[in-house]
Amino acid sequence: MRHYVGGGFDGSGVPFPLVDPVRGTTAGEAPAASRELVDRAVDAARAALSGPWASWSPAERARLLHRIADGIEARFEEFVDAECADTGKPRELASTVDIPRAVANFRSYADLLVGRAERSWNTPTPDGRGALNYTVHKPLGVVAVISPWNLPLLLLTWKVAPALATGNTVVAKPSELTPGTACLLAEVMAGAELPPGVFNLVHGGGGDAAGQWLTEHPGVDAVAFTGESRTGSTIMRAVAGRLAPVSFELGGKNAGLVFADADLERAVEGTLRSAFTHSGQVCLCTERVYVERPVFDAFAEALAAGARELTGYGPMVSAAHRDKVLGYLGKAAADGRILAGGGVPRFGDDRDGGFWVEPTVLTGLPEDHPAVREEIFGPVVHLAPFDTEEEALALANAGPYGLAATVWTGDVSRAHRVAPALDVGIAWVNTWNLRDLRTPFGGVKASGIGREGGDHSLDFFSEPMNVCVKL
Ligand code: NAD
Repeated sequence: MRHYVGGGFDGSGVPFPLVDPVRGTTAGEAPAASRELVDRAVDAARAALSGPWASWSPAERARLLHRIADGIEARFEEFVDAECADTGKPRELASTVDIPRAVANFRSYADLLVGRAERSWNTPTPDGRGALNYTVHKPLGVVAVISPWNLPLLLLTWKVAPALATGNTVVAKPSELTPGTACLLAEVMAGAELPPGVFNLVHGGGGDAAGQWLTEHPGVDAVAFTGESRTGSTIMRAVAGRLAPVSFELGGKNAGLVFADADLERAVEGTLRSAFTHSGQVCLCTERVYVERPVFDAFAEALAAGARELTGYGPMVSAAHRDKVLGYLGKAAADGRILAGGGVPRFGDDRDGGFWVEPTVLTGLPEDHPAVREEIFGPVVHLAPFDTEEEALALANAGPYGLAATVWTGDVSRAHRVAPALDVGIAWVNTWNLRDLRTPFGGVKASGIGREGGDHSLDFFSEPMNVCVKL
């Protein structure tokens, strides 16, 4: 595990331990960047802005993104191993979602970049000669990319790819819990014929560590961050003095709405996936499900049975996160009913030292209960009945978050009425987490600022400038 600064690897810094979430044992260590190293990374990124990188054409940058994607594919199994070792997630998930999506992130921005048109306007003037206005897109400059532990490579590359596509230079800081695939990415970058300093990587924690030092650094022109809403607020304060732009993908408390006219089997299967994929440690996971009263009991019974039968799921990422999730379950057991799970699975082998929580279905809690209102980010879903469409919408739209929601219905008019009325950035109808990388991705309220995906990311990472020429 090494930093990558100015085109060179660097192992300096006080080491911090990495823990295997499956067994709870120490699995290695990574170095925490000093403030001096963070300074060096920002300086290297700034210097690279005025080097040969500045004259790379969009087509050259697109070819670079494809080379990086090729580099990840060439070491696919190593990436899968590293992602599983850090997060404890099932291999199936890392090899079908995390690593292929990282490859797709680079390829999709490469393709978009090549087809991107600059706009121009012919403007009439009183003398009849007119003027030509045209827009050029410039990079923002040095961009800090700060990413979380749940989908480490996927979310890191989701920002690094468009940042490089638009000609910025990057200092990336992955989560201190999951630095492995970022290290491999730096190795791929080192072999991708990229000018030194265009991509830099520093490891370490958030507060009073590399994360904070990066966001406070006057040489950082913009911050692209995915993580907790609270951390987003802290970063906003850090950049406020210099008015640096931010792109924030933050927390959620996503609702599912199941109407009585839905295909119930499909709704149950979809909710099992949306609540328990990666043991609920995906920002898009459903944590609250509102079910129309006539089908509530049947849905609850089927979902609880499905949750009890789930196998092959992974652990929480850390002991601290496991304890946080179990804390919510303790409160929920006291104040409501547990229909499935609620505890820690026992394996009778070394996994008993890991950070496991059973897939859990809750019901009977009031809407202001912490387990219904706050983001748990674990394998926990709460069910509550509703009677009318208006009530369902009011329940889904309550609370501080607004990332995603899912509607299960067989009525096409209802689908089009309800989905756009949800206070979220992303609504799915009769599916969950079906993604087209060109579509806007992000949340409203405490779930984020700005949109990522396709042109939305390319727009964030570039500054449009107008040139007006009098003819
Ligand atoms: P986190 O906010 O604790 O940490 C995220 C990153 O920020 C880490 O790299 C961390 O070191 C860094 N960080 C922490 N404090 C910092 C500070 N003061 N200054 C600068 N950097 C700092 O989040 P997490 O626990 O790693 O991730 C889980 C959270 O991420 C959940 O809330 C989840 O909903 C959210 N998330 C959102 C999306 C989305 O697209 N909306 C996607 C994935 C995860």
